Amino acid sequence: MEWEIVNSKAVTPQGVLENATIRIKDGRISSLSSGIPKDVLPIRINLRGNFVYPGLINAHDHLLGTYLPKVGTNRPYLNWLPWDNDLKSSVVYAERQQLEPEQLYLLGSYKNLISGVTSVLDHIPHFVQKPFLDKSPVRILERFTLAHSICSYSLGWGDGPQIEYARAKEGNLPFVTHISEGFDEESKNALRELNSLGCLGENTVLVHGIAFDAEDIKTVSKTKANLVWCPESNLFMFGKTAPIREILEAGINVSLGTDSPMSGSINIFQEIRAAREFFAKEYGKELDPKIVFKMVTENPAKALRVENDLGKLEIGKKADLLVLSSEKEDAYQTLCTADLKSVRLVVKDGKPSYGDLSLKDFFDETGVTGREIKIAGTDKYLAGDPLGLLESVTRALGYKKDLAFFPVG
Ligand SMILES: [Zn+2]
Repeated sequence: MEWEIVNSKAVTPQGVLENATIRIKDGRISSLSSGIPKDVLPIRINLRGNFVYPGLINAHDHLLGTYLPKVGTNRPYLNWLPWDNDLKSSVVYAERQQLEPEQLYLLGSYKNLISGVTSVLDHIPHFVQKPFLDKSPVRILERFTLAHSICSYSLGWGDGPQIEYARAKEGNLPFVTHISEGFDEESKNALRELNSLGCLGENTVLVHGIAFDAEDIKTVSKTKANLVWCPESNLFMFGKTAPIREILEAGINVSLGTDSPMSGSINIFQEIRAAREFFAKEYGKELDPKIVFKMVTENPAKALRVENDLGKLEIGKKADLLVLSSEKEDAYQTLCTADLKSVRLVVKDGKPSYGDLSLKDFFDETGVTGREIKIAGTDKYLAGDPLGLLESVTRALGYKKDLAFFPVG
Protein backbone atom coordinates (compact mmCIF):
# COMPACT_ATOMS: atom_id res chain seq x y z
CA MET A 1 0.00 0.00 0.00
CA GLU A 2 1.25 3.43 -0.95
CA TRP A 3 -0.13 6.82 0.05
CA GLU A 4 1.01 10.40 0.55
CA ILE A 5 0.72 13.44 2.77
CA VAL A 6 0.92 16.80 1.04
CA ASN A 7 0.97 20.42 2.18
CA SER A 8 2.51 19.66 5.59
CA LYS A 9 5.34 21.05 7.68
CA ALA A 10 7.60 18.06 8.32
CA VAL A 11 9.76 18.18 11.45
CA THR A 12 12.93 16.47 10.23
CA PRO A 13 16.37 16.15 11.87
CA GLN A 14 17.55 18.98 9.58
CA GLY A 15 14.71 21.28 10.68
CA VAL A 16 11.20 21.99 9.48
CA LEU A 17 10.56 21.21 5.80
CA GLU A 18 7.87 23.56 4.47
CA ASN A 19 5.21 22.45 1.99
CA ALA A 20 6.37 18.88 2.55
CA THR A 21 5.17 15.79 0.73
CA ILE A 22 5.72 12.54 2.61
CA ARG A 23 5.18 9.27 0.79
CA ILE A 24 4.55 6.04 2.65
CA LYS A 25 5.10 2.62 1.15
CA ASP A 26 4.73 -0.73 2.93
CA GLY A 27 4.74 0.91 6.36
CA ARG A 28 7.88 3.00 5.82
CA ILE A 29 8.70 6.52 4.66
CA SER A 30 9.64 6.16 0.99
CA SER A 31 10.16 9.81 0.12
CA LEU A 32 10.26 13.20 1.78
CA SER A 33 10.43 16.35 -0.30
CA SER A 34 9.27 19.92 -0.63
CA GLY A 35 6.52 20.77 -3.12
CA ILE A 36 3.55 18.88 -4.51
CA PRO A 37 4.49 16.14 -6.99
CA LYS A 38 2.64 15.97 -10.31
CA ASP A 39 2.00 12.23 -10.12
CA VAL A 40 -0.80 11.87 -7.59
CA LEU A 41 -1.01 8.70 -5.51
CA PRO A 42 -4.48 7.13 -5.17
CA ILE A 43 -4.58 8.04 -1.46
CA ARG A 44 -3.57 11.62 -0.71
CA ILE A 45 -4.05 13.53 2.57
CA ASN A 46 -3.85 17.31 2.43
CA LEU A 47 -2.70 18.53 5.86
CA ARG A 48 -3.26 22.24 5.15
CA GLY A 49 -0.01 23.35 6.75
CA ASN A 50 -0.16 21.25 9.91
CA PHE A 51 3.01 19.91 11.53
CA VAL A 52 4.13 16.29 11.09
CA TYR A 53 6.45 14.85 13.76
CA PRO A 54 7.83 11.35 14.16
CA GLY A 55 5.48 9.30 16.39
CA LEU A 56 6.45 10.04 20.00
CA ILE A 57 8.23 7.47 22.19
CA ASN A 58 7.28 7.16 25.86
CA ALA A 59 10.49 5.82 27.41
CA HIS A 60 8.97 4.72 30.71
CA ASP A 61 5.52 3.43 31.57
CA HIS A 62 3.94 0.48 33.38
CA LEU A 63 0.86 -0.34 31.32
CA LEU A 64 -0.54 -2.70 33.95
CA GLY A 65 -0.76 0.34 36.24
CA THR A 66 -3.00 2.38 33.94
CA TYR A 67 -5.49 3.51 36.54
CA LEU A 68 -6.47 6.50 38.67
CA PRO A 69 -6.50 8.29 41.06
CA LYS A 70 -2.88 8.54 42.15
CA VAL A 71 -1.87 6.99 45.43
CA GLY A 72 0.37 8.92 47.83
CA THR A 73 -1.08 9.00 51.34
CA ASN A 74 2.29 9.26 53.09
CA ARG A 75 4.13 11.60 50.74
CA PRO A 76 6.90 12.55 50.51
CA TYR A 77 8.44 9.08 50.55
CA LEU A 78 11.98 8.02 51.47
CA ASN A 79 12.10 5.64 48.49
CA TRP A 80 9.75 3.78 46.14
CA LEU A 81 9.06 0.87 48.55
CA PRO A 82 6.71 2.55 51.08
CA TRP A 83 4.87 4.08 48.10
CA ASP A 84 4.48 0.61 46.60
CA ASN A 85 3.18 -0.66 49.96
CA ASP A 86 0.67 2.21 50.16
CA LEU A 87 -0.37 1.47 46.58
CA LYS A 88 -0.94 -2.23 47.16
CA SER A 89 -2.96 -1.68 50.34
CA SER A 90 -5.08 1.11 48.81
CA VAL A 91 -8.78 1.03 47.96
CA VAL A 92 -8.02 2.18 44.41
CA TYR A 93 -5.65 -0.76 43.90
CA ALA A 94 -8.36 -3.18 45.08
CA GLU A 95 -10.70 -1.58 42.56
CA ARG A 96 -8.06 -1.85 39.83
CA GLN A 97 -7.73 -5.57 40.57
CA GLN A 98 -11.32 -6.01 39.38
CA LEU A 99 -10.07 -5.39 35.85
CA GLU A 100 -8.32 -7.98 33.75
CA PRO A 101 -4.69 -7.25 32.82
CA GLU A 102 -5.81 -7.07 29.18
CA GLN A 103 -8.23 -4.24 29.97
CA LEU A 104 -5.48 -2.29 31.76
CA TYR A 105 -3.06 -2.87 28.88
CA LEU A 106 -5.61 -1.61 26.36
CA LEU A 107 -6.39 1.45 28.50
CA GLY A 108 -2.66 2.14 28.70
CA SER A 109 -2.25 1.69 24.96
CA TYR A 110 -5.07 4.11 24.15
CA LYS A 111 -3.81 6.58 26.76
CA ASN A 112 -0.49 6.70 24.90
CA LEU A 113 -1.90 6.63 21.38
CA ILE A 114 -4.31 9.57 21.78
CA SER A 115 -1.37 11.72 22.96
CA GLY A 116 0.70 10.93 19.87
CA VAL A 117 2.82 8.16 21.36
CA THR A 118 3.31 5.29 18.92
CA SER A 119 5.98 3.35 20.90
CA VAL A 120 6.19 2.73 24.61
CA LEU A 121 8.71 1.02 26.87
CA ASP A 122 6.52 -0.92 29.28
CA HIS A 123 8.94 -1.70 32.13
CA ILE A 124 7.79 -5.09 33.41
CA PRO A 125 8.93 -8.72 33.04
CA HIS A 126 8.30 -10.11 29.57
CA PHE A 127 5.88 -12.86 30.62
CA VAL A 128 3.50 -10.18 31.93
CA GLN A 129 3.35 -8.08 28.75
CA LYS A 130 3.69 -10.85 26.17
CA PRO A 131 -0.02 -11.84 25.89
CA PHE A 132 -0.96 -8.24 24.98
CA LEU A 133 1.73 -7.28 22.45
CA ASP A 134 -0.29 -8.24 19.37
CA LYS A 135 -3.55 -6.80 20.69
CA SER A 136 -2.16 -3.38 21.53
CA PRO A 137 -2.94 -0.44 19.23
CA VAL A 138 0.36 1.15 20.32
CA ARG A 139 3.79 -0.45 19.74
CA ILE A 140 4.91 -2.01 23.01
CA LEU A 141 8.70 -2.33 22.70
CA GLU A 142 9.48 -5.87 23.72
CA ARG A 143 13.19 -6.19 23.04
CA PHE A 144 14.92 -5.26 26.31
CA THR A 145 16.47 -6.84 29.37
CA LEU A 146 15.74 -5.56 32.86
CA ALA A 147 16.02 -5.25 36.58
CA HIS A 148 13.40 -3.58 38.75
CA SER A 149 15.92 -1.53 40.72
CA ILE A 150 19.39 -1.76 42.25
CA CYS A 151 18.87 -2.29 45.97
CA SER A 152 18.42 -5.15 48.46
CA TYR A 153 14.61 -4.58 48.47
CA SER A 154 14.26 -4.63 44.66
CA LEU A 155 11.40 -6.63 43.12
CA GLY A 156 12.69 -9.86 41.59
CA TRP A 157 12.42 -8.87 37.93
CA GLY A 158 14.86 -10.59 35.57
CA ASP A 159 17.82 -12.81 36.38
CA GLY A 160 19.94 -10.20 38.15
CA PRO A 161 21.71 -7.11 36.77
CA GLN A 162 24.90 -8.83 35.61
CA ILE A 163 23.18 -11.60 33.63
CA GLU A 164 20.62 -9.19 32.18
CA TYR A 165 23.28 -6.63 31.24
CA ALA A 166 25.40 -9.31 29.54
CA ARG A 167 22.31 -10.38 27.56
CA ALA A 168 21.68 -6.80 26.55
CA LYS A 169 25.20 -6.36 25.23
CA GLU A 170 25.11 -9.63 23.37
CA GLY A 171 21.74 -8.96 21.74
CA ASN A 172 22.18 -5.20 21.15
CA LEU A 173 19.29 -4.52 23.54
CA PRO A 174 18.68 -1.91 26.22
CA PHE A 175 19.10 -3.00 29.84
CA VAL A 176 16.42 -1.04 31.73
CA THR A 177 16.32 -0.44 35.47
CA HIS A 178 14.94 2.07 37.95
CA ILE A 179 17.79 3.66 39.88
CA SER A 180 18.24 6.01 42.84
CA GLU A 181 14.48 6.37 43.28
CA GLY A 182 14.73 7.67 46.81
CA PHE A 183 17.10 9.04 49.42
CA ASP A 184 18.09 6.18 51.72
CA GLU A 185 21.73 5.00 51.71
CA GLU A 186 21.07 2.24 49.18
CA SER A 187 19.33 4.60 46.76
CA LYS A 188 22.22 7.06 47.08
CA ASN A 189 24.76 4.28 46.44
CA ALA A 190 22.82 2.52 43.67
CA LEU A 191 24.82 3.89 40.75
CA ARG A 192 28.17 3.08 42.37
CA GLU A 193 26.82 -0.42 43.05
CA LEU A 194 25.72 -0.89 39.44
CA ASN A 195 29.07 0.42 38.21
CA SER A 196 30.96 -2.00 40.45
CA LEU A 197 28.90 -4.83 38.94
CA GLY A 198 30.14 -3.70 35.52
CA CYS A 199 26.64 -2.90 34.27
CA LEU A 200 27.06 0.64 32.97
CA GLY A 201 27.45 1.33 29.26
CA GLU A 202 25.62 2.38 26.11
CA ASN A 203 23.07 -0.40 26.64
CA THR A 204 22.13 0.81 30.12
CA VAL A 205 18.89 2.78 30.50
CA LEU A 206 18.62 4.30 33.97
CA VAL A 207 15.18 5.46 35.09
CA HIS A 208 14.90 8.34 37.63
CA GLY A 209 18.35 9.01 39.19
CA ILE A 210 16.77 11.35 41.73
CA ALA A 211 19.62 11.01 44.24
CA PHE A 212 22.43 11.36 41.68
CA ASP A 213 25.35 13.49 42.90
CA ALA A 214 28.09 15.16 40.83
CA GLU A 215 30.20 12.01 40.81
CA ASP A 216 27.25 9.88 39.65
CA ILE A 217 26.58 12.28 36.78
CA LYS A 218 30.24 12.06 35.75
CA THR A 219 30.07 8.25 35.83
CA VAL A 220 26.90 8.11 33.70
CA SER A 221 28.41 10.53 31.20
CA LYS A 222 31.72 8.67 31.00
CA THR A 223 30.08 5.26 30.55
CA LYS A 224 27.58 6.67 27.98
CA ALA A 225 24.62 5.21 29.88
CA ASN A 226 21.20 6.74 29.17
CA LEU A 227 18.75 8.41 31.54
CA VAL A 228 14.95 8.46 31.54
CA TRP A 229 13.51 11.43 33.39
CA CYS A 230 10.01 11.21 34.92
CA PRO A 231 9.61 14.59 36.67
CA GLU A 232 5.85 14.38 37.33
CA SER A 233 6.13 11.02 39.12
CA ASN A 234 9.27 12.08 41.04
CA LEU A 235 7.81 15.40 42.19
CA PHE A 236 4.56 13.73 43.23
CA MET A 237 6.17 10.93 45.26
CA PHE A 238 9.27 12.67 46.60
CA GLY A 239 8.92 16.42 46.03
CA LYS A 240 12.25 16.14 44.19
CA THR A 241 13.56 15.03 40.83
CA ALA A 242 16.92 14.39 39.17
CA PRO A 243 19.47 17.26 38.88
CA ILE A 244 18.48 17.59 35.24
CA ARG A 245 20.38 20.77 34.34
CA GLU A 246 23.68 19.20 35.40
CA ILE A 247 22.72 15.93 33.67
CA LEU A 248 22.04 17.75 30.40
CA GLU A 249 25.20 19.83 30.72
CA ALA A 250 27.17 16.59 31.08
CA GLY A 251 25.90 15.54 27.64
CA ILE A 252 23.92 12.54 28.89
CA ASN A 253 21.24 11.16 26.56
CA VAL A 254 17.96 12.04 28.34
CA SER A 255 14.48 10.79 27.42
CA LEU A 256 11.12 11.56 29.00
CA GLY A 257 8.81 8.94 30.48
CA THR A 258 5.37 9.25 32.03
CA ASP A 259 5.64 6.38 34.54
CA SER A 260 2.18 4.96 35.35
CA PRO A 261 -0.68 7.38 36.07
CA MET A 262 -0.83 6.04 39.64
CA SER A 263 2.22 8.18 40.41
CA GLY A 264 3.03 10.00 37.18
CA SER A 265 1.41 12.09 34.46
CA ILE A 266 -1.72 11.19 32.51
CA ASN A 267 0.11 11.40 29.18
CA ILE A 268 3.30 12.55 27.46
CA PHE A 269 1.92 16.07 26.87
CA GLN A 270 1.43 16.54 30.62
CA GLU A 271 4.93 15.13 31.22
CA ILE A 272 6.41 17.67 28.79
CA ARG A 273 4.62 20.50 30.60
CA ALA A 274 5.77 19.19 34.01
CA ALA A 275 9.37 19.00 32.78
CA ARG A 276 9.32 22.55 31.47
CA GLU A 277 7.56 23.97 34.51
CA PHE A 278 10.05 22.30 36.84
CA PHE A 279 13.02 23.53 34.80
CA ALA A 280 11.77 27.13 34.67
CA LYS A 281 11.01 27.18 38.40
CA GLU A 282 14.20 25.45 39.50
CA TYR A 283 16.72 27.13 37.19
CA GLY A 284 14.97 30.35 36.18
CA LYS A 285 15.25 29.65 32.45
CA GLU A 286 13.39 27.83 29.73
CA LEU A 287 14.06 24.19 28.88
CA ASP A 288 14.67 24.52 25.14
CA PRO A 289 11.61 23.15 23.23
CA LYS A 290 13.93 21.56 20.67
CA ILE A 291 15.66 19.57 23.43
CA VAL A 292 12.24 18.48 24.69
CA PHE A 293 11.34 17.33 21.16
CA LYS A 294 14.46 15.16 21.11
CA MET A 295 13.61 13.75 24.57
CA VAL A 296 10.43 12.19 23.14
CA THR A 297 11.77 11.15 19.72
CA GLU A 298 15.40 10.53 18.78
CA ASN A 299 16.85 10.29 22.32
CA PRO A 300 14.61 7.38 23.41
CA ALA A 301 15.09 5.74 19.99
CA LYS A 302 18.83 5.78 20.63
CA ALA A 303 18.58 4.67 24.28
CA LEU A 304 16.17 1.86 23.47
CA ARG A 305 18.26 0.80 20.47
CA VAL A 306 15.51 1.21 17.88
CA GLU A 307 17.07 4.18 16.08
CA ASN A 308 17.29 2.37 12.74
CA ASP A 309 13.49 2.24 12.65
CA LEU A 310 12.10 4.98 14.86
CA GLY A 311 12.57 8.47 16.27
CA LYS A 312 13.12 10.58 13.13
CA LEU A 313 11.27 11.59 9.98
CA GLU A 314 13.67 10.09 7.46
CA ILE A 315 13.46 7.98 4.32
CA GLY A 316 13.56 4.28 5.28
CA LYS A 317 12.27 4.77 8.84
CA LYS A 318 8.98 3.23 9.94
CA ALA A 319 6.08 5.51 9.10
CA ASP A 320 5.09 6.43 12.65
CA LEU A 321 3.71 9.96 12.47
CA LEU A 322 2.05 12.50 14.69
CA VAL A 323 0.15 15.43 13.16
CA LEU A 324 -0.52 18.46 15.36
CA SER A 325 -2.46 21.62 14.47
CA SER A 326 -0.04 24.40 13.64
CA GLU A 327 -1.46 26.91 16.09
CA LYS A 328 1.98 28.33 16.83
CA GLU A 329 4.57 29.21 14.23
CA ASP A 330 7.33 27.19 15.87
CA ALA A 331 7.10 23.40 15.58
CA TYR A 332 8.88 22.73 18.88
CA GLN A 333 6.79 25.27 20.84
CA THR A 334 3.69 23.70 19.30
CA LEU A 335 4.71 20.30 20.65
CA CYS A 336 5.52 21.73 24.09
CA THR A 337 2.08 23.35 24.44
CA ALA A 338 0.09 20.55 22.78
CA ASP A 339 -2.78 18.79 24.50
CA LEU A 340 -5.25 16.12 23.40
CA LYS A 341 -7.18 18.70 21.38
CA SER A 342 -4.12 19.47 19.23
CA VAL A 343 -3.82 15.94 17.80
CA ARG A 344 -5.13 15.67 14.23
CA LEU A 345 -3.76 12.26 13.24
CA VAL A 346 -1.56 9.44 14.54
CA VAL A 347 -0.05 6.92 12.10
CA LYS A 348 1.71 3.73 13.19
CA ASP A 349 3.50 1.38 10.77
CA GLY A 350 2.12 3.38 7.85
CA LYS A 351 -1.52 3.04 8.89
CA PRO A 352 -3.78 5.54 10.66
CA SER A 353 -4.55 4.57 14.27
CA TYR A 354 -6.27 7.70 15.54
CA GLY A 355 -7.43 10.97 14.06
CA ASP A 356 -10.12 13.51 13.33
CA LEU A 357 -13.45 12.00 12.31
CA SER A 358 -13.17 14.06 9.10
CA LEU A 359 -10.39 11.64 8.08
CA LYS A 360 -12.70 8.61 8.30
CA ASP A 361 -12.43 8.01 4.52
CA PHE A 362 -8.66 7.71 4.92
CA PHE A 363 -9.13 5.01 7.58
CA ASP A 364 -11.52 3.19 5.24
CA GLU A 365 -9.16 3.46 2.26
CA THR A 366 -6.28 2.00 4.29
CA GLY A 367 -8.46 -0.81 5.62
CA VAL A 368 -8.32 0.26 9.28
CA THR A 369 -11.46 -0.41 11.29
CA GLY A 370 -12.27 1.48 14.47
CA ARG A 371 -14.98 3.43 16.25
CA GLU A 372 -16.27 6.97 16.15
CA ILE A 373 -15.50 8.45 19.54
CA LYS A 374 -15.57 11.84 21.26
CA ILE A 375 -12.28 12.57 23.01
CA ALA A 376 -11.78 15.73 25.04
CA GLY A 377 -14.95 17.05 23.37
CA THR A 378 -13.78 16.51 19.78
CA ASP A 379 -15.05 13.99 17.20
CA LYS A 380 -12.43 11.35 16.49
CA TYR A 381 -11.95 7.97 14.92
CA LEU A 382 -9.93 5.43 16.91
CA ALA A 383 -8.72 2.03 15.72
CA GLY A 384 -9.97 -1.14 17.40
CA ASP A 385 -12.95 -1.20 19.73
CA PRO A 386 -12.29 1.46 22.39
CA LEU A 387 -15.98 1.85 23.21
CA GLY A 388 -16.34 -1.90 23.73
CA LEU A 389 -13.36 -1.72 26.06
CA LEU A 390 -14.92 1.07 28.11
CA GLU A 391 -18.23 -0.82 28.31
CA SER A 392 -16.36 -3.89 29.59
CA VAL A 393 -14.57 -1.72 32.18
CA THR A 394 -17.91 -0.32 33.37
CA ARG A 395 -19.33 -3.85 33.63
CA ALA A 396 -16.31 -5.09 35.64
CA LEU A 397 -16.37 -2.15 38.08
CA GLY A 398 -20.14 -1.90 38.37
CA TYR A 399 -20.12 1.84 37.61
CA LYS A 400 -18.90 4.25 34.93
CA LYS A 401 -15.48 5.42 36.07
CA ASP A 402 -14.02 8.69 34.92
CA LEU A 403 -10.46 8.12 33.65
CA ALA A 404 -8.68 11.40 32.89
CA PHE A 405 -6.08 9.75 30.65
CA PHE A 406 -8.85 8.55 28.31
CA PRO A 407 -11.46 11.34 28.46
CA VAL A 408 -14.24 10.00 26.29
CA GLY A 409 -17.29 12.21 25.84
ZN1 LIG B 1 8.64 3.11 36.92
